[in-house]
Amino acid sequence: MDVRLAAKYPFLKEASNYLRDSGVTLDSLTKSVAYQRARYMGKERVMEAVESGIVEDHPTASEVDANNELLSYPVARMIVSAVADPMLVNRYAIAEAKKADERLRGEDLPFIKLVAEELGLDVVVEDGAISVDFTAFLRFSATMRSKDWKLVNQQVIAGRVLVTKHRLVRLIQQMLTDRITSELPLPVNDDIMRAFSADIAEIGGIMAEKRAEFKARSMGRVSIIRFPPCMKKMLKMIQGGENLPHSGRFALVSFLHKLGMNSDEVLETFSSAPDFDESKSRYQIQHITGEISGTEYTPPECSTMKSYGICFDPDSLCKREWMTHPLTYYKAKGKRFKRPSGK
Ligand code: SF4
Repeated sequence: MDVRLAAKYPFLKEASNYLRDSGVTLDSLTKSVAYQRARYMGKERVMEAVESGIVEDHPTASEVDANNELLSYPVARMIVSAVADPMLVNRYAIAEAKKADERLRGEDLPFIKLVAEELGLDVVVEDGAISVDFTAFLRFSATMRSKDWKLVNQQVIAGRVLVTKHRLVRLIQQMLTDRITSELPLPVNDDIMRAFSADIAEIGGIMAEKRAEFKARSMGRVSIIRFPPCMKKMLKMIQGGENLPHSGRFALVSFLHKLGMNSDEVLETFSSAPDFDESKSRYQIQHITGEISGTEYTPPECSTMKSYGICFDPDSLCKREWMTHPLTYYKAKGKRFKRPSGK
């Protein structure tokens, strides 16, 4: 593979074969002065993902530039792995996949097909029509919000969904996001931690600030003071890493969603749990909020919550005869707080 092509698509097997054959070792990449530029560019790659949400274009006209650009990819993955922050992994994966999407749009169909197949998507091109297996289509289009992506709006022939070249590239973007998210963080040794200690501290600090900002923004729109005791308790449990039954997770996610939080905001609220599993939580949340299932669920009524054993610590407001739903509690508490004092 040509080094410029490898630099454009560093996630391809051929690109890593190229690197292996070039003889660059992990030791030299992390320590040698010869790779100082590649290390700098690797850190920039991560910073671009954090700040702009997409990896930028860098010069690759000369072989040296292309080589540094290619090497910046494994360096970036080492840094992301060393920081080991699920929000960073997610952001970085999306940024790499977006860049690949942008570049693939300018490629011809045989190359795009080759990339899709390497990522595990079976693509058939027949008489100019492109089709993919419908189960793969469902899986990788699950996060697309537009109605145009719903299976009912597709042309399906013998279990295969017809797609345009543009749509095939968009599916590749999602597959690549999933692939990178599942691969990272990689195990990192002490040499890697030492070599990138300053970058790890800097990026870790930026992520901590972003997390605090994000939390304040997402929770800022809802008032925790108005939460019914059951939801307060379950939020505390999940953030503290306590085991919450499925019925409790369902009730809490649907409650937060009904208050206006989107899937990312709910996910972020849960991310402080010590046993936080990003991909599992994301799937569960997107199912409850309707992004995957197509059904937006509502939290259960108080009577159902009681039968599930998740009506925790009911207070005097809960004991009113008209109190039948956690959302009613939230609204009622809001009215109470709005009432002018002395009335
Ligand atoms: S009565 Fe309803 S709102 Fe109050 S704690 Fe129980 S489930 Fe929650």
